[in-house]
Order: sequence, then structure tokens, then C-alpha cells
Amino acid sequence: MAENLNLFTSTQDVIQEALQKLGYDEAMYELLKEPLRMLEVRIPVKMDDGTTKVFTGYRAQHNDAVGPTKGGVRFHPAVTDEEVKALSMWMTLKCGIVDLPYGGGKGGVICDPRQMSMGEVERLSRGYVRAVSQFVGPTKDIPAPDVFTNAQIMAWMMDEYSRMDEFNSPGFITGKPLVLGGSQGRDRATAEGVTIVIKEAAKKRGIEIEGARIVIQGFGNAGSFLAKFMSDLGAKVIGISDAYGALHDPNGLDIDYLLDRRDSFGTVTTLFENTISNKELLELDCDILVPAAIENQITADNAHNIKANIVVEAANGPTTAEATKILTERGILLVPDVLASAGGVTVSYFEWVQNNQGYYWTEEEVQEKLVRKMVEAFDNVYTTAMNRNINMRLAAYMVGVRRTAEASRFRGWV
Ligand code: GLU
Repeated sequence: MAENLNLFTSTQDVIQEALQKLGYDEAMYELLKEPLRMLEVRIPVKMDDGTTKVFTGYRAQHNDAVGPTKGGVRFHPAVTDEEVKALSMWMTLKCGIVDLPYGGGKGGVICDPRQMSMGEVERLSRGYVRAVSQFVGPTKDIPAPDVFTNAQIMAWMMDEYSRMDEFNSPGFITGKPLVLGGSQGRDRATAEGVTIVIKEAAKKRGIEIEGARIVIQGFGNAGSFLAKFMSDLGAKVIGISDAYGALHDPNGLDIDYLLDRRDSFGTVTTLFENTISNKELLELDCDILVPAAIENQITADNAHNIKANIVVEAANGPTTAEATKILTERGILLVPDVLASAGGVTVSYFEWVQNNQGYYWTEEEVQEKLVRKMVEAFDNVYTTAMNRNINMRLAAYMVGVRRTAEASRFRGWV
């Protein structure tokens, strides 16, 4: 039988298993297996050549029993309604794992910003906010950056929302530029979070970060900052990749040089001749492998060839259910996406708190609070996995879904 590569249904399967293990009945699963609300919108945009193009966008709100929903907006040609729904469910799990007073939300627009001018992207961003405006807000549903959206796009979205609201509403969206109420450390937060869990996982496996051989798939926001942090800590980043290929040097790559040369979408390998494929990259002999690119990268086809001692998922959904099983059987420690990549939403929460109180923290304060959240989350998931003799993905789902399930029960929904 072909393996299940559908992110939505494979997420549902793990949520169902986690709820069963927590002792909830079928009705709770019925409530949590889909978002409470899903909005589909059409966004007309005047293109630079004078024509009008109509884009399709989505906003999913998985569950708001705990608090407002929270999650990024993705601009990508491969966005689908099912993907947005699955991503909103993962946001519920992430917020539960790091114990934030939010439920999960997510948005997406089917478009390719790499082929659009700045002006077109701005009009699309403003159009998206107008289309979903009645559905979102600082106490309802709070967007943020995701794949191919950034601080500039958050600024346009905040400005558009503030115009409609006739009020300056910095708490409507997170991941903003610092001068518009962004938080110190938000741009690096996902990679910081991954770094913290890598350190914790390495301790469990007796691996010293100094001199450890690390392979990172993807050189976008998460992957590039992570490569920098790891090499600054003395690790040897022996492989990195982008969508077009991968670079390998067993003695460690010069990360500062590569960071200087990457473009704003994370492309760098096209400048080199001696490249290897992404497939070869994943199978390199290393201590720690970090898929930080796209989904379904480690599957039943290559899981047997992974040589890392620890796999830390910085991307959303890079390892299939079947591959998770194979890696676990092979004794590889798999730190799942919903835990490893929760640093971004954690600092988004800090940003929202700062916006609400109008008082801003130093970089050190943000960093210290992030470390505390991530270490606690790692310990909680790791201990659950050990005590119950289950893999860390199922343990993370159990920890992540519990708060929303309990809140739904207390509210009398189920
Ligand atoms: N898009 C990021 C994620 O998937 C961040 C979400 C947020 O900051 O709200 O976790």
C-alpha cells in the first residue's frame, strides 16, 4: 500500500491516537479533527500591467477554546485548503506544547511572490486583510509570517487593518518590524527555538555541540539562522541545501560566506558547481539532521538510509508517519516539528503581550523567556515519551492537544 503523504489526514490520525491515549472519547475527536471555522476568499489585485488578477486565499481557525487563534499566513503557489487546515491544527499543538493562551489558526494565499513586484505583493497583502477582516483581530485571530511572508508584509497588513479599525492596532498581527511594535528576536525566533531543542536532544544522546556534524536542509528563515547559530556554537555544518541543490563539505562549510551570498528566498547553491542533490544531503553521515525546508522529505523510501543520531524537524511535516516509525525503530531520536519549530509562535506571543501592555522588553529578556519556554516544552514532551514508551511525535501531540481538549470540556462543548 502506498504511504500516506496527505498532511491533513496523517495529522488527524495522530490527533486521534493522542486523544485516545489521554482518555477522551470520540466526540472530542469529532470536534478537533477539523477547524471550527474555515474561510475561503477571492482577492482581486490590480497588477502592474494594468490587468486584474483574482487570487484565492484562506483563513482557518482550528479551535478557540483556550483563547484567540494564532498562526501565520503563507504566500505560496502550492497552498491548498487542506494544507491550511492541517497547519492550523499544528498551530493548536504548538501553542499547547509551549503553553500559550491561544488556539491554532493559519492563513494562505495561492500565489507566487517570487514572480510578483513589491507593489503587487503589497496590494495582495492589503486585499487579503480586507477579505478576512471580519474574522480576525487582536482578541480573535492574530496572523503572523510564514513561508514567503515577512516583516514588510506584516507591516502592510497591520496598516490596512488599522485603517479599517480607525485605530492603531499593533496587536492585530505579529512578526512586525521593530519600529511598528515588533519584538526583539522575532526574526530569529524559530531558529533560536530549534537551537535550544537541539542542545537538549544532544544532551540526551551524549553529543557535544562543539564539533558535532550537522546537516541542514533548507536555507530560508529557519535554516539560514540555524546554520549561523550552530557554527557560532562550534558545530560543523557539513551540509546545507536550497530548492535547487545542496552543498557538502565534511570539514564544515563557511556559513558566513554563504549567508552573504544567499538571496532573499534563501537560494545560494546555484552559485556553485560541486553540488549534490537534496536526496544525497539527507543521507549524509552526520550527528544531527535538521530538515528545515518542506514537507514529506523523509519517507518510507529513504528513512532506512538516514545516518543521523538525532533528527530535529524545523520544517512543518518533513517526516511521514511511516518514516517516523522506521526512524524510531532504528533508535534515531526524532524531535517533531510541533515542538522544534514552536520558537516562532512563542516570540510572537511575547510580541502580542508587549503590544497589549505598550511596554517593550530587551533582547536578553526575550531570549531568557524563550529558553525557559522551549526547555520546559522539550522536557515535558521527552518525559511523556519515555514514561509512556512512545515516540516523541505522539508525545508532543498528547502534550499539545491536552490544553485545548480540557478547555473545550470545561466550556461544556463536549
Ligand atoms: N508561521 C509560524 C509557525 O508556523 C509562526 C506563527 C506565529 O508566529 O503566529 O509557527
